[in-house]
Amino acid sequence: MKYVILTHGGVAAPQNGADSCARAADEALGALDAGGEALAAAIAATARLEDDPRFNAGTGSNLRLDGRTIEMDAAVMASDGRFGAVACVERVKNPVLVAAKVMETPHLIIAGAGATAFARRLGFADHDPVTEAARERHGRALAALRGDGGDSDYTNDAARFHALTATRFWNFDAEPVECDTVGAVVRDTHGRFAAAASTGGSTYSLRGRVGDVPLMGAGIYAGPHGAVAATGVGEEIARRLLARTVYDWLADGVAPARAAQRGVAMFPDVIAVGVLVVGRNGQAIASNRNMPSAQLAG
Ligand code: ASP
Repeated sequence: MKYVILTHGGVAAPQNGADSCARAADEALGALDAGGEALAAAIAATARLEDDPRFNAGTGSNLRLDGRTIEMDAAVMASDGRFGAVACVERVKNPVLVAAKVMETPHLIIAGAGATAFARRLGFADHDPVTEAARERHGRALAALRGDGGDSDYTNDAARFHALTATRFWNFDAEPVECDTVGAVVRDTHGRFAAAASTGGSTYSLRGRVGDVPLMGAGIYAGPHGAVAATGVGEEIARRLLARTVYDWLADGVAPARAAQRGVAMFPDVIAVGVLVVGRNGQAIASNRNMPSAQLAG
């Protein structure tokens, strides 16, 4: 069977990130060439994407509303059912590598301070993922939340956040923000599938907010029929169990291209969403916004 590698830098991420998606796919191919299975390749690609500060994952992640906190989610899944995730992990360079370690425990998800302590115990060094660009995005998003920004990139999300929460739910220690995820799906030459994803979360996030990425079947899913990775507004993806829903269509014999389109069509246009899909008989990428991505097959 031929291998397939698909990578993405997040729905609505800058299009100039496509070069980085291509390098991440090369990294995954290197893992396969070295004898690694699909899972190792998906993890290698996602770690590479986390290291690109243009993407909202790992270094370059979004700041939470307080302008100081970064809490990251990541998950990995293989077609034999292995799954590991971290939620709200702080100050690590590659959350996806920590998620991969969770697979070695009896647990599926480790969250918050426990996830950070778990990472330290395993030797993941303290790393500050804050970048100047993330601070600048936070400033624009906060202005939109206050209603004084006029920044169309953020206006819809700011209005939605206001409607959902308002400041009475503020849960940061200090007084005082769009989304994006990176991810990969892989089929190896033995027909094994894997998916991995990592995110700094949506712009307007309270402390402790967990998105779709670490929820099995929401942000990612893999099984004997294929692998799926999603990006977009996490709460909306989780409500529709997007990755598992698309996977079930693959299992029913729906072609990957059709399954990917149907997955995106489940969302109204105002909700940004994208999916990577690989099955036994093909692969597809679909999104309703610009999404830097890359694919390799051979
Ligand atoms: N799904 C991610 C989250 O809500 C963000 C994204 O993919 O854009 O955490």
